[in-house]
Amino acid sequence: MIPVVALVGRPNVGKSTLFNRLTRTRDALVADFPGLTRDRKYGRAQLEEHEFIVIDTGGIDGTEEGVETKMAEQSLAAIEEADVVLFMVDGRAGLTSSDEAIAAHLRSREKPTFLVVNKIDGIDGDSACADFWKLGVDAMYQIAAAQNRGVTALMERALAPFAESLKETTEGEDGELIDLTDLNTVEEIENANLSEEDAEAAYKRLQEQPIKMAIIGRPNVGKSTLTNRILGEERVVVYDMPGTTRDSIYIPMERDGQEYVLIDTAGVRRRKNMSMAVEKFSVIQTLKAIEDANVVLLIIDARENISDQDLSLLGFALNSGRSLVIAVNKWDGLDNDVKDRVKSELDRRLGFVDFARIHFISALHGTGVGHLYESVIEAYQSATKRISTSMLTRIMQMAQDDHQPPMIRGRRVKLKYAHAGGYNPPIVVIHGNQVNELPGSYKRYLMNYYRKSLELMGTPIRILFQSSD
Ligand code: GDP
Ligand code: GDP
Repeated sequence: MIPVVALVGRPNVGKSTLFNRLTRTRDALVADFPGLTRDRKYGRAQLEEHEFIVIDTGGIDGTEEGVETKMAEQSLAAIEEADVVLFMVDGRAGLTSSDEAIAAHLRSREKPTFLVVNKIDGIDGDSACADFWKLGVDAMYQIAAAQNRGVTALMERALAPFAESLKETTEGEDGELIDLTDLNTVEEIENANLSEEDAEAAYKRLQEQPIKMAIIGRPNVGKSTLTNRILGEERVVVYDMPGTTRDSIYIPMERDGQEYVLIDTAGVRRRKNMSMAVEKFSVIQTLKAIEDANVVLLIIDARENISDQDLSLLGFALNSGRSLVIAVNKWDGLDNDVKDRVKSELDRRLGFVDFARIHFISALHGTGVGHLYESVIEAYQSATKRISTSMLTRIMQMAQDDHQPPMIRGRRVKLKYAHAGGYNPPIVVIHGNQVNELPGSYKRYLMNYYRKSLELMGTPIRILFQSSD
């Protein structure tokens, strides 16, 4: 499971600055869902081999009243959902009563917490820290988020426990025997350095594994209704599994001989009945579900305009590289002119995700729901398809023959060979000279060429370039 890191601290200590460093603002998702504070931000970050979700909890100072209390509660909820808390203080301002109030709260949570003293650029870090020992912590980390100083060292420490559990599963590179049944993800297979033949067998096994399918979407789009519809179908065999309140529920099921694990972000199985009040929506839970899924089923409400939240969730799914199927729900009882308007809005705003199948369904009546599985299976198979080096190189060659790469600094860019660099999403690594400098338009051309030639549907493709000079 991808770790979740929460940034906590009073306003102005540098949380946003650190957040932007970690996520490179690339895919920050600003939570603007009903019932959540506006200034809470979620991002997906990558630092060397670590991937994690980072939340900027917004400012809390432990002394809120009224509306602010509500906001603070939201921040505190984020702390509950986090695996690691980075408690930030301002090394220039020194210790404040707000810091002490937050520290007292964190102590009562017993979460792994790192005290981060920020803004130590241009001042004596050790003496700036002296004050903060009063907070009763075991260790402090000095950083200057604005200068990216100390950030990598801090994150290495904070994320170390999660990296270790990853390594255990990839042992065996030194030639010892690997049990293929231990390799349950694409990453594990890739990391195990298997022979072509063993990798083939491991992939075949994986293809026969349950497809992890996450049903995501903003509140009220119909996730619970769809989940109930799927689970209520006679042809579906559902196994009951206990769940915690913190994470999505994983529901193993079977349909037409294919096994699935449905990742239920709406908490349907947790509710005794639908009217039971359960916190309706958790961004973190949704982001984790995306990371852990093979295929993301994004639900959009046909009766609402496509919102920034829909696009944010879509952006997260795209950045994670997961396969994607889009379902436009509540398609029942709409007039034809409304349907036409919805379709043209989809074309206009979702045109850029041309690889994903779009279904028009009614979760309430079950219309179109059965066909979703076809696209889910297609997307999964596209994402995990094994493609040989010779095939990838041949396609690259054809693309190059059809349309030559441009000249760069008077020299023609030349693509030499290609091989696979990963699956779910499929990654193609292309070697050649000056390939790093290819313009975006040519990269997109290659991507589309691969997609068409390999008939990949439902999954994004990534191309990495390795310059030989
Ligand atoms: P937040 O309210 O906790 O999110 O704080 P911000 O990230 O908005 O930062 C508050 C102020 O501190 C801004 O003016 C930042 O430019 C400044 N700041 C953040 N990090 C550093 C740092 O490492 N060094 C210095 N000198 N200033 C910083
Ligand atoms: P969630 O918050 O995404 O889990 O959404 P729910 O499944 O709770 O649905 C929100 C509301 O939309 C409920 O009142 C549902 O009855 C309604 N709804 C869900 N699916 C459909 C549908 O296909 N058609 C219509 N007309 N209403 C639907």
